Amino acid sequence: MFALRTFYQSKDWCAFRERLIHERTDDNGEVICAHCGKPIYKKYDIIGHHIKELTEDNVNDALVAFNPDNVELIHFRCHNIKHQRYDGFRQYVYIVHGAPCAGKTTWVINNAYDDDLIVDMDRLWESVCFRGREDKPNRLKANVFGLRDCLIEQIKLRKGKWRNAYVIGMYPLASERDRLCEMLGARCIHIDTDKSVCLSRAVNDDWCGYIEDYFEAFTR
Ligand SMILES: [Zn+2]
Ligand SMILES: [Zn+2]
Repeated sequence: MFALRTFYQSKDWCAFRERLIHERTDDNGEVICAHCGKPIYKKYDIIGHHIKELTEDNVNDALVAFNPDNVELIHFRCHNIKHQRYDGFRQYVYIVHGAPCAGKTTWVINNAYDDDLIVDMDRLWESVCFRGREDKPNRLKANVFGLRDCLIEQIKLRKGKWRNAYVIGMYPLASERDRLCEMLGARCIHIDTDKSVCLSRAVNDDWCGYIEDYFEAFTR
């Protein structure tokens, strides 16, 4: 039995989406967006969208939930446009995860609307001390994490009028991600930039260390 809240993180859905991506990759190795007709270059930008919308009542009906004719592959950004236009009021939550320097924040900047709710650790650090981005004083850690948890609680309760919320973080461990996804009813977006690219963007040795630590934890 599926619950709507966790459907898009279920193993069955992820496997189904993979299958559709495989079947719909053209001779140039590209998946074409069913909304705008342009190629979708990054796999994490591909959203499987149900044409007949999934609801609590039909989420266990395979003819709706797992019917290839009912699922379009479209850009994340096109998906937002579609829902912005057709939905009644519905709130969507995304966990944007990946290595340090993978481009998570950049991806959110490119996709989020001005009135979306964004939880970004770097920004939270900057909000409590002057050099938060370069320097994260250990003594403030509990306060910054407290701020994050407070926002996560608000997202969990769907407090406020935002349409989309993005939680940006490394979350290298699948168990931790799954728990957060389930709690928030979120979809995961994995910014799966290669380690070599992340390392080339690192500003100093500390950051190279964080990247190495991430990939070690991620592949464990
Ligand atoms: Zn598109
Ligand atoms: Zn959709």
